[in-house]
Amino acid sequence: MVDLSLVTALVTNLKTAIDIGKTVKEITDISQVRDKVIEMQELILSAQSSAMAAQTQLFEVLQDNAELKHKAAAVDEWAATASRYQLRDFGAGTFAYELRPDAANGEPPHRLCPTCFEQRKRSLLQFIGHTASDQDFYKCIPCAQDYFFGARQSRPAPKRTVSRSSFWEGY
Ligand SMILES: [Zn+2]
Repeated sequence: MVDLSLVTALVTNLKTAIDIGKTVKEITDISQVRDKVIEMQELILSAQSSAMAAQTQLFEVLQDNAELKHKAAAVDEWAATASRYQLRDFGAGTFAYELRPDAANGEPPHRLCPTCFEQRKRSLLQFIGHTASDQDFYKCIPCAQDYFFGARQSRPAPKRTVSRSSFWEGY
């Protein structure tokens, strides 16, 4: 915010200096003229100081304005990106953001990391493979988070045959 009192002081000082200048031509005493010139110089210097301070404040306001415009543009840009995705349950309460088919714009189907999404980052999950419990294993490269989608299928544990002789070998 520009301090308006600086502008007021600037205008007042310049006006006073002009008024003094108008009276100088009527003064015949050279010492009085010199005093008036000194007075005018002080007023002009003070006005110049006020102008510089106001200019600095104006520059700060312009910088703040540019920064706010940049932030507003980033918010708008993220809102447009986020609107292309929807949160989906991939089974058993395993969630990720998925590209909406009607907003694909030619991009292939993909999932986004929900953690990065909440931080306004578009991080694509990379498919790693299927787990032994039939879940889809994805990884978010930027935040290094692993995701397992779908219900965990329990498989019968492989039978472990321990022969009596090998079992007792250590004893
Ligand atoms: Zn992530």
